[in-house]
Amino acid sequence: MAEDSVLTVSIVTPDGSVYDNNAEMIIVKTPSGEMGILPNHIPVIASLDIDAVRVKVNDNEEDEIAVSGGFIEFSKNVATVVANAAECQEDIDENRAQAAKKRAEQMISTAKQTHNVDELKRSEIALRRAINRINISKH
Ligand code: ATP
Repeated sequence: MAEDSVLTVSIVTPDGSVYDNNAEMIIVKTPSGEMGILPNHIPVIASLDIDAVRVKVNDNEEDEIAVSGGFIEFSKNVATVVANAAECQEDIDENRAQAAKKRAEQMISTAKQTHNVDELKRSEIALRRAINRINISKH
């Protein structure tokens, strides 16, 4: 494959590198919708939702990485995702995510009863992180 038809993808978090690969396409979820990036796409910087980053490695292989928000920078066929937290599908501990989901649901219920707006927002985001991990671990 010619160099200019390949993307280099790396996903990093404050704890270090989570994913590095070459790919044909990367698909991310931004607040304004899904964005697919192919080789020679124009440079872009976009923030990312709590969702999957999908990396089409080739016709037979696609990797899914759970990201808990952050941003993507794309330039000169290099895609760099900087995420608050990120896990490759095979590294997701589904039981842990199920426990986090339950905890977040309990916290949401308490926050609603006590009218604690900040706690409600925090626990809704924790719930989204947990659901995202569960969904990706099941694919
Ligand atoms: P928990 O309550 O289970 O810690 P959390 O959503 O609060 O979940 P984060 O603060 O987003 O966790 O992440 C803390 C660290 O733990 C990060 O390195 C993240 O990649 C990792 N992590 C969180 N949940 C999981 C999971 N279910 N499987 C694997 N790694 C996870």
